[in-house]
Amino acid sequence: MNNAIYNFNAPANEPVLGYLSGSPERKLLMEEIGRQSDALIDIPCIIGGREFFTGQTTDIVLPHDHKKVIGRFHNVTEEVLKNASVSAMEAHKVWSDLSWTVRASILLKAAELISGKYRHVINAATMLGQSKNIFQSEIDGVCETIDFLKYNAYFASRIYEIQPRSFYNQLNKMEFRPLEGFVFTVSPFNFTSIAANLNMAPVMMGNTTIWKPASTAVLSNYYLMKVFQEAGMPDGVINFIPGKGAVISNVLLKDPLLAGIHFTGSNNTFNHLWKQVAANLGEYRSYPRLVGETGGKDFIFVHPSADPLEVAVNAVRGAFEYQGQKCSAASRMYVPGSLWPEIKSLMQDMCRDMKMGDIRDPENFINAVIDESSFDNIMGYIDFAKKSGDASIIGGGRGDKSKGYFIEPTIIETTDPFFKTMQEEIFGPVLTVWVYPDNKLNEAVDICDKTSPYGLTGAVFGRDRVAASRICESLRYAAGNFYINDKPTGAIVGLQPFGGARASGTNDKAGGEFNLIRWISPRTIKETFVPATDYRYDYMKH
Ligand code: NAD
Repeated sequence: MNNAIYNFNAPANEPVLGYLSGSPERKLLMEEIGRQSDALIDIPCIIGGREFFTGQTTDIVLPHDHKKVIGRFHNVTEEVLKNASVSAMEAHKVWSDLSWTVRASILLKAAELISGKYRHVINAATMLGQSKNIFQSEIDGVCETIDFLKYNAYFASRIYEIQPRSFYNQLNKMEFRPLEGFVFTVSPFNFTSIAANLNMAPVMMGNTTIWKPASTAVLSNYYLMKVFQEAGMPDGVINFIPGKGAVISNVLLKDPLLAGIHFTGSNNTFNHLWKQVAANLGEYRSYPRLVGETGGKDFIFVHPSADPLEVAVNAVRGAFEYQGQKCSAASRMYVPGSLWPEIKSLMQDMCRDMKMGDIRDPENFINAVIDESSFDNIMGYIDFAKKSGDASIIGGGRGDKSKGYFIEPTIIETTDPFFKTMQEEIFGPVLTVWVYPDNKLNEAVDICDKTSPYGLTGAVFGRDRVAASRICESLRYAAGNFYINDKPTGAIVGLQPFGGARASGTNDKAGGEFNLIRWISPRTIKETFVPATDYRYDYMKH
């Protein structure tokens, strides 16, 4: 037994590669995209290391070319699902007892594998399956995944250092037990890295998981699972079960050994899971930990002192990168009348200039939205605005789903600050702008705070630093991640811990100690060296 006390230094964030024309990384990536496009991969459920091909399959298609099938996955059946919690609890015995430095080394090895050998594999799968361009995939599937893995090992080491003090005649210790049961992880389609972290955060702390990936992200998520296995993750520590959410949750949420849910996705789904847990509360061995990051209605507030070009560039990037399918994407904007003509014209020029199409063409800034129901939902909001007397479309507004699910970057200008598209999450490339009179700044800030139920990200732009600071204070609860003179997207692990409150989730800040702490149940142990031998206290003895 090696009793050394280990320590992990704060890691450096993974560098983003350039993928310039002719670079080795670009060549490798393009070859891998070709390979995966022709591979017709057959993806099983993986439970306790065993592969289950249930025969109930779903095709994997490209959102930007939806008639092209590049593989299929096997949906879990109720019969197969029964194995999942048994296998997670079998693995729990070994995994929870293992030295945490061994667990950490598996995470760190997975990070190295993704940084090198599998960088192009994870990128190609994220680009093809989720329709991300090179840059969006590289910052998500590769860099953020690696950062999560490395920072989790580092933050775990800091948590394990926390110990109570001991005075005379006693020794106090804190033991960081993993939760007593399995963690059900439910991941969204839009970030490969989130899927990695939803599992690896609890796993780092000694837990085992049952993982339901989003049906539109199974390809990249499967490759992640394979990397984790190659890194040395024992069978059953993560159990990979693609399939229908409702079928899976109906079984797992009734299991007495459900110890937690680690979720990222929409508000509706998280509320539904929470209610199901509440209904089954009497059945569980422990109160399940419910950690969920949900939707957003993220804003940019422009002060009259702002630089119009800075505002315009950050607004179009914040709103339209990855087709606006980021929980943090800017989707409502407040602009003073004095600046609006210039900002509007700059944004219109940029949107006209943006190319849209297949992920293989690096000139395309915009690719496809994830699937047909998403396309229809987003176009529904755009059509609503087209028909409304309170709004006009001043950029984009067209969609075409004949080959891929393409929607132009769309800017709506409204005269009603509480217009539907100022309030509801659309999750697509749609930005709504309300122009406020310069002399009504405080009222506009107040409206921004009260317009939407969410509280995820927000930004203020202004060269008047004192004014920007006042707006930051006034909007204290409007965003869990607040930006001054920057777009509200692009949080980096370890630098801007991510999450929001109100309807945006439990704000446990993915990529930090706050999140990891949710996956342990500390035990305090007090040892007394010389125990009492008389029930009376000294003052009773005269
Ligand atoms: P979604 O809620 O539709 O799906 C999320 C996951 O839940 C998927 O795996 C889905 O299959 C599963 N699911 C759906 N119904 C279920 C059920 N009854 N039981 C169990 N699982 C079920 O969300 P999505 O479309 O994948 O992702 C988009 C949403 O995610 C947006 O609202 C976005 O804001 C949010 N999001 C939030 C963050 C954040 O950090 N706050 C990050 C990324 C995405």
